[in-house]
Amino acid sequence: MKILVVNAGSSSLKYQLIDMDGEQMLVKGQVERIGIEGGHLKQTVTLPGVDKKVIEIFQPIENHVEATQMMLKALQDPEKGAIRSVVEIGAVGHRVLHGGTKFSASVVVNEDVKDAIRECIPLGPLHNPANLMGIEACEKVMPDTPQVAVFDTAFHQTMPPKAYMYGVPKKYHDQYGVRRYGFHGTSHRYVAQRVGQRIIICHLGNGSSLSAVVDGKCVDTSMGLTPLDGLLMGTRCGTLDPAVVQFIANNENMSVDEVLTLMNKKSGLLGISGLSSDMRDIDAAADAYNGDAMLARDMLVYGIKKYIGAYAAAMGGVDMIVFTAGIGENNGALRERVMSGMEYLGVRMDHARNAACADGHATESVISADDSPVKVLVIPTNEEIMIARDTLDLVTR
Ligand code: ADP
Repeated sequence: MKILVVNAGSSSLKYQLIDMDGEQMLVKGQVERIGIEGGHLKQTVTLPGVDKKVIEIFQPIENHVEATQMMLKALQDPEKGAIRSVVEIGAVGHRVLHGGTKFSASVVVNEDVKDAIRECIPLGPLHNPANLMGIEACEKVMPDTPQVAVFDTAFHQTMPPKAYMYGVPKKYHDQYGVRRYGFHGTSHRYVAQRVGQRIIICHLGNGSSLSAVVDGKCVDTSMGLTPLDGLLMGTRCGTLDPAVVQFIANNENMSVDEVLTLMNKKSGLLGISGLSSDMRDIDAAADAYNGDAMLARDMLVYGIKKYIGAYAAAMGGVDMIVFTAGIGENNGALRERVMSGMEYLGVRMDHARNAACADGHATESVISADDSPVKVLVIPTNEEIMIARDTLDLVTR
């Protein structure tokens, strides 16, 4: 069966067509600038052994329905597409940011599911409306094709209350659902499914989160009510004293919303370095002794170390540490920095193995020494394949 995986943002729609017979990605594409000037679709047929066939279209794209129609047209392009008819798509799997406490697993979309995604809009105000638009657009243009929702928060629903509760009056949890939810769940689950025991997963990308996983179940994670919590990220500040919000608001005459925007979009690696949110730029500047870039890198590394220590304590030890996502998979030097001084925990790195697994050459690799009590791995994440697997599983049950 061919499964279409859709990740709809407020002005974009990313997609992959995957043949589940062999889990082969057939097509990868994205529609950008939906509803704003400069609409653009780019699609690449990714079948190995076939010349890369690329479609690129520049035209105004009014809304997500139009974007979905363009996507289907490109997929069916007689020369540069991959399917002859929409009926070849067995089902569509949608990435949905926030499932609140309602969803601890993926589900086939029906009216109740859409209502529940709508109810979670206050928790994911930027993403959930866009995810819903993606679902509704696909329903409109493919009314006979089942749609499945896969939630970023679902994997973390196994956390115990002591890990997910915040120390504010409990009524805010009871009334509004104020608690830690965690994100990147599909990525953490992909990595966790393939290994056992007590694992610390470091998903380090533009957004970064760590999770502590025991026997495949999440027991704690670093992101919170929103993806702002936890590690220093590309443009997000991560954990800080909440009083900083009031302090900046008062001193800069800003509203709380404005401070939160600052903390989401102008902070993190970008805010500290004043240069870039991209770790490659930070590394280049830090290696040239730019003090602010060195500080940004040090803060990130120190933050990861602290979480690893905390999660090892929470689990009563750790058997495996896994690195994944853009930075985790490609930045061998950063992994080396994080792991240095971790001998106390039972980590012994194999520096050559670690160095070999970097800069676009990441494959699933053990990067610790054979006799290391704690195994350290790089596992390239694949959220799309997880979404496709869940979708196939649900529609063939
Ligand atoms: P997102 O969270 O948007 O999915 P990614 O997982 O792609 O982001 O991570 C982006 C980060 O990964 C950037 O900081 C970038 O520097 C780093 N990165 C991505 N690819 C590489 C690479 N080939 N070599 C080194 N760093 C990379």
